[in-house]
Amino acid sequence: MFSNSQSLCHNAAMTDYKASAPNHEQSQLPGLTPDQLKRLMQDWGKPAFRAKQITDWCNKGILNPTEMSNISNDVRQKLNNELLCEPLKLVRRECSSDGTRKYVFALKRGRFAGKMVESVFIPEPRRGTVCISSQVGCVLDCPFCHTGTQDFEANLTAGEIMAQILAIKADLRAEPIATSEALHNDVTHIVYMGMGEPMANETAVHESISLLMCSDGLNISRRRITVSSSGLTPQIQRLGELHPVNLAISLHSAIDAKRDTLVPINRKHKLQELRSCLNAYPVGKQRHITLEYVLLDGANDQNDDLQALIQFVNPERERINLIQFNTFPGSPYCGTSKQDMKVFAQHLISKGIRATIRRSRGDDIMAACGQLKAATKLNNKQ
Ligand code: SF4
Repeated sequence: MFSNSQSLCHNAAMTDYKASAPNHEQSQLPGLTPDQLKRLMQDWGKPAFRAKQITDWCNKGILNPTEMSNISNDVRQKLNNELLCEPLKLVRRECSSDGTRKYVFALKRGRFAGKMVESVFIPEPRRGTVCISSQVGCVLDCPFCHTGTQDFEANLTAGEIMAQILAIKADLRAEPIATSEALHNDVTHIVYMGMGEPMANETAVHESISLLMCSDGLNISRRRITVSSSGLTPQIQRLGELHPVNLAISLHSAIDAKRDTLVPINRKHKLQELRSCLNAYPVGKQRHITLEYVLLDGANDQNDDLQALIQFVNPERERINLIQFNTFPGSPYCGTSKQDMKVFAQHLISKGIRATIRRSRGDDIMAACGQLKAATKLNNKQ
């Protein structure tokens, strides 16, 4: 299924730009590889350097052909007529007091036009991380997750995944973040942790990773890309084979009976299967798999939960990221207190396990972990 996608960037067999749009009504400019753009220019009888010029604009986050000042008028017009150049419309941007920005985008393609996704930019002094969505809603129903309360509506295309990142790059150039702290104002890291289960939209996620890593494109190292999954083990195995990027797992319990409820995909792929999958996932030197664990008062923060987690984790290859629960309207859970979170972390550390408590960012704008949900759907399924 993915035999070509690993080398999408350079593989001549994949240069048919029309073939890149399996479920698009129209090819999308940010979903085209530089090679596909070259082929397109060739088909239009235009010189190859035009493709490089267009790629350079895209890399800056400029997708509107009318803003591509060094491109001839007829090429701009053809781009406008034949491609969906800007597959997302920015609907709203919210800025947190800590510099985090949440973006709400509307899709433009066909019957999905108007559906919303959210993305978050998290600036730190030395890095700028974009948390991107891969689906509108989610196919899974993790009850502690705000996105999980929204119906699944669409898989995003690779172009729509890329367009989130490019729009944020353009926004940061146009209006850098101004806070008292010196924060990074460009995109250096990508995490697939927004709305949706990335491994349930496998083809588009692989295509977008190829685009991110492409040397003529954004050229982002796989060490700076993280895919988070709730545990779709066959897909995770393929990710390791084709694009061994950083892996994060939404674990949230190491007890099958509890995880069946908290992360319902566990009913299909049990912890033992997940364990084998993680053992086989390629982890390079100085790298590790992150096990995400949101601490829920009384639900997964008791002594039996702690002991099961200690038994499950492989301290040589994995670290635990303890997450403060961010509440949302209608949530059935309460978060563990900060004091109890520290005690939980200390127990893990005392067993030689790397455990950190993730600093929550953007919770004043509902941009923190597990809080993303398209605002237009707030009242539909709570
Ligand atoms: S935690 Fe992830 S997989 Fe589970 S419902 Fe939320 S977005 Fe979907």
